[in-house]
Amino acid sequence: MQTKVCISVDTEFSIAGAFQDRALLPVAEQRVWCVVDHKSHGLGFMLGCFARHRITATFFVEALNRHYFTHDPMRDIAHHLFDEGHEVQLHVHPCWDVFQHHDWRERARTIQTPGIDDFYRRDEGESLRLIENGLQVFHDWKLPAPTVFRSASLQHDDALYRALARSGIPYSSNIGMAVFDSGDKRYCLYSGRHARHGVLECPILTFCDWKMPGKQHLKSLTITGSSFAETRMLLDQAHRAGIEQVVILTHPFEYVQNRDFTLRQMRRHALNQQRLNSLCKYLNNNRDRFHACGVATAASAPMHHNSSRNLLIQGSLLKTVPRMAEQFVYDKYSNWQLARH
Ligand SMILES: [Zn+2]
Repeated sequence: MQTKVCISVDTEFSIAGAFQDRALLPVAEQRVWCVVDHKSHGLGFMLGCFARHRITATFFVEALNRHYFTHDPMRDIAHHLFDEGHEVQLHVHPCWDVFQHHDWRERARTIQTPGIDDFYRRDEGESLRLIENGLQVFHDWKLPAPTVFRSASLQHDDALYRALARSGIPYSSNIGMAVFDSGDKRYCLYSGRHARHGVLECPILTFCDWKMPGKQHLKSLTITGSSFAETRMLLDQAHRAGIEQVVILTHPFEYVQNRDFTLRQMRRHALNQQRLNSLCKYLNNNRDRFHACGVATAASAPMHHNSSRNLLIQGSLLKTVPRMAEQFVYDKYSNWQLARH
């Protein structure tokens, strides 16, 4: 059996501090392409890496930002991704909804529960309205209707799944337990595929990276959070355990480093670029065991008796400690480099 590996990329623009500071404004393309010295070190780097190693990925494209960016720059990005043969699916950040109002600065300051960008504790009808707005954007872009949904910051609750079911979207990937835990045991999902209100959830793989008596530490699988050695070990373990698919989370901006919101000072993030490249190369060289594909492809496979197992893979301290050291040294070096400019 091959384990499907779904590299999922949340592709979004940035509020860039505009809600807090009148001097700041949202940032569009540069947050995605991340151009440094005339070269795209964000999305351009990723697409090159995927093409080189023949990887199909899933791009969860944020659709509500056109309330602010009325010239709709995400449309071209979405078409570009689609033309490159990747899955283009729906990502929604509720915070962009406020830009429909001319007094958005005042509103952004006063919105409290749910938080301006939260799906958690949002009214089911309101969540449905936001999802349907997103579907309308894909329709206007003349792209195939998305079949997988990813919520802002992996926030979710039971009402969101009811809203998704009503919207007709069959699959979701809203859960990464180390990123957001709603406290609802029904949504404590580490791996596998799980039907909730008729929507099939494919969580980002969450594993235990270390534990002591009485405490276990969880981590959701991301490029920026795990070394390649750790990711490879987890993939090998997932394959041995018969886990059908592993969903990995990343963003284009993880492949550069910034000093601040304005993105004026940026440099390539060599460590994360190396990690993605090594992962893609490994998947390409081990096609007997792994199949890199989109989330909809993985989600729509026939369900088997063990598809809804919820295994928590145990990582290894032998990988966790070197990863922490690698990260620490690289961050120190990078901050020093950025400070010099
Ligand atoms: Zn996002």
